[in-house]
This record gives sequence, structure tokens and C-alpha cells, in this order.
Amino acid sequence: MRKTLFLNPPSYEGFDGGAGARYQARREIRSFWYPTWLAQPAAMVPGSRLVDAPPDGLTVEQVAPLARDYELAVLHTSTPSFPNDARFAAHLKDENPRLEVGMVGAHVGVLPMQSLNSAPAVDWVAVGEFDYACAEIASGRPLPQVPGIAYRENGLVRFTAPRPTIEDMDALPPVVDVYHRDLTVENYFIGYLLHPYVSLYTGRGCRSKCTFCLWPQTLGGHRYRVRSADSVEAEMARAKKLFLQVKEFFFDDDTFTDDLPRAEEIARRLGRLGLTWSCNAKANVPRKTLQILRENGLRLLLVGYESGNQQILNNIKKGIRLDIAREFTRNAKELGITIHGTFILGLPGETPETIRETIRYACEIEPETIQVSLAAPYPGTELYRQAQEQGWLQIKTGDLVDTHGVQVAALNYRTLSSTIIFNSVEEFYRKFYFRPRKIVSMVGGMLRSPDVMRRRLREGVEFFRFLHQRREPSQVSRASATGAVGN
Ligand code: SF4
Repeated sequence: MRKTLFLNPPSYEGFDGGAGARYQARREIRSFWYPTWLAQPAAMVPGSRLVDAPPDGLTVEQVAPLARDYELAVLHTSTPSFPNDARFAAHLKDENPRLEVGMVGAHVGVLPMQSLNSAPAVDWVAVGEFDYACAEIASGRPLPQVPGIAYRENGLVRFTAPRPTIEDMDALPPVVDVYHRDLTVENYFIGYLLHPYVSLYTGRGCRSKCTFCLWPQTLGGHRYRVRSADSVEAEMARAKKLFLQVKEFFFDDDTFTDDLPRAEEIARRLGRLGLTWSCNAKANVPRKTLQILRENGLRLLLVGYESGNQQILNNIKKGIRLDIAREFTRNAKELGITIHGTFILGLPGETPETIRETIRYACEIEPETIQVSLAAPYPGTELYRQAQEQGWLQIKTGDLVDTHGVQVAALNYRTLSSTIIFNSVEEFYRKFYFRPRKIVSMVGGMLRSPDVMRRRLREGVEFFRFLHQRREPSQVSRASATGAVGN
């Protein structure tokens, strides 16, 4: 077995590129998801090490010298971080010219040829799911015999045979031992999750076909391929033993509630383990299921509402009706389930009026907390193809973040300029959080718990700093300079 280093490379300060980060970017408040995608192959390569540089605050100068101790480095990359990651690969090669460097992730999977051509220090990239490809390369199998990669040979890029999608999810070893061995769980924050938390996957893929959504259209697919309840229960029992300090476990499956009987079965087992947990859900889970999940330790649901305008939801193929989402939210709240709602501004069909409609909708259904993102056209998604065809793209491919790693408004419509979309994010946050009712409920929560008080104060400072930074001239001018404003 070759000495193998799995790396989430140093990037923008506070850059969240972990598996749960659907938009890899720097967030409003310091926020890091776990590098689950990398932890999975790391669990399959004995003696390997996983380094997640951003949450540990590690710099290029601190991480690059590790290259001297390894034969193979596998870097996880994303569309926004790719140029940085390609430069970092070159640093690794400077430290150890004999090191073999591979890259994995949706970006290189969608654009393998372009990625290899623009990253000369990278020897191979994985096309699609990469767990077994990494394990085989680490075991010493020659690159031409490893399905599912593109690699260099005599100055040319060669492709191997496609690798079939993984069907036996139970055959993948648990990731929690890698977390325990290599990561510092206290360094992982998500504002709306209890701290410290741990996140992991129990399945891959999502049955929905939302046009903007990255993972199902690139790595995961549109079937929900799952681990058995027995396997999940065993890993969670182990996690409970390994992480006595952890207050909450998050199931990062794209849509954990895609298979309701399974979700209920796993919930009952988690209930027996006495765990507090949370997960991603679509806003259509029936009350009966919500009740079973709640009675068995579910604390929070992360729900992608995206928009308060039905036509936009139809445009993006969200497959949800606003009345169903309203009823779901009412039920969840009545049962005592906390909701973190995510919204996206700038999706196809957006106008100033639909933005106002979405803000009103968010205030009406009132999740506990919200996240507002800018529509991000990732290569490999239908949204990206539409944006190219319709001439909405106002950036070069990959320019999804600014020089601080903060999201930029990447789409510009005839009916709505990118500048208005960009500025509406701040307006959304202000209108949602600065309502007397919301302020009273947040202050109440802080007074009831010193833990919540500490967290909210820290997040408040970070939030205002973030808003200030978004308004710095370089960012606003970049949003407006790159497209026709107000047309
Ligand atoms: S339901 Fe969620 S995870 Fe599934 S495709 Fe839509 S946005 Fe993506």
C-alpha cells in the first residue's frame, strides 16, 4: 500500500468546501462541513491520513511540506476552489517531485480534460464516484487499469473505462474512525447545529431533479442508494462511543427523507441509542413520519425551500407545492422540530417582485434560522447548461466566488440584473431577522441558554462583518462591472 495523504487543501480564509457545502464558499458566519467525501476513501486505505486544512486554519506553508512523507496525495476540489487547488498541487510537487497527485470531486469529474490541462502538477483525476478508484491507486494498481479516471501518458490525456455506480453501500467502511483519528471535531461549526457536531452520509443520490443542485447531477445520481439500517445503527453506536463530547449528529444525505419507511426505521434505532440528530429533508414529509422522527431524537431539519414563488419552483423542477411546504412547516413546528430553511435568489424567472414574494414567504412560514444563497451555475448542472444557452452567465466558468471566497451573483437576466440579485441577499436577511417578533424570540433563546447566548453573540459579530465585507467596493464593483446592470 502506498503512503497516501487525503487533502482538503488550504483555501480562502473560512472557505467551506466540505461535503455538506452545496455551494463551496465562505459563509456569513464561520461554518465548516465535514470532508465526508474524502474520509470515505481514506477509510479504505490503511495507514492513510486525512488533512482538512480550512477548519484547522492550516496554511499552504504548513501543509505543503507534508508531501515529503507521502507517495500519493488525493486532493478534493470544487469549481470555486479549483484554481487555488491546482496551484497547491504544484506546491506539493515542489516539495516532493516524486509525489503522485490525484484530484477528486464534482468539478474534475465533469471537466476532466480541462482540469488536467489547466493543472500540470496533477497526474490523474477521478471521473464520477472515486472511492474505489482511490483505494485501487493507493494499492499500487497501474493507472491504465483503474476504471473511472483520466490520467496523463506521454503528454496526452487518457481515459480509462467508466466505473459502475456503487450499489452495495454497506460495503463502504465507516468514516467515523477516520474522523476520530484525523480531525478535530471542535473545529467544525454550523451555526444552526449544536456544537460540537458530526455529520456523515447514510446514502447517496436524490430522487428529485432540481436543476441547480450539484451533487445528484454529478456524483450522487437520482436514485437514493442507501446503507442498511443495521449498518447505520452500528456506525452510530460506534460514533456515540468515539465522540462523547458531540451534542448532535447530522445526516448529510441529500434528502434523508426520500425513503420514508427507512427514515422511520433508522429513527427508531437512533432513539434506542439515545442520540440527538438532524438531517436534510424535503418540505413534503408527512406529519406521521415527522412525529416518529421527533419522538426518536430528531432535533432539526435542514429544508431547501429555495423560493416562495410557485413558478420559480416549477422552473427549477423542485417538485414541491407551496401549500404542501406550508403544511409541512406548520406540522414540524407544532411537533417541536426546529427548521433551518435555505433560500436561493436569482433562479430562472426571478424578478424584483418574486424576490419580495420569497422574503414574505420566509417571514410567514418562519423557520428558526435561514440561509440565503445566490444561484450558482455549476458545470454539470442543468442550470449551467441553461445559463450558457440563454446568455445569463456573467462570469467565466469557475468564477463563482470573489477574492475573499464569498459568493458572487453569477447570473444576469434581462428582467433582473446581477447587482439587484446580489444586494437582495442582505435585504432578505435584514427583513427576516430584524423583525420585532424574531428579535424577541432570539433574545428569549439566548436568555434561556448561556450556550446559545455565546454562540449567537459570536455569530452576530461574524454576520455583520460578513455584510460589511460583501459591501466592500471590490466586491460590489465586481458584481456590477461584469455585466449589464439594470437591463
Ligand atoms: S431535493 Fe434537495 S438534494 Fe434533491 S435535487 Fe433538489 S435541492 Fe438537490
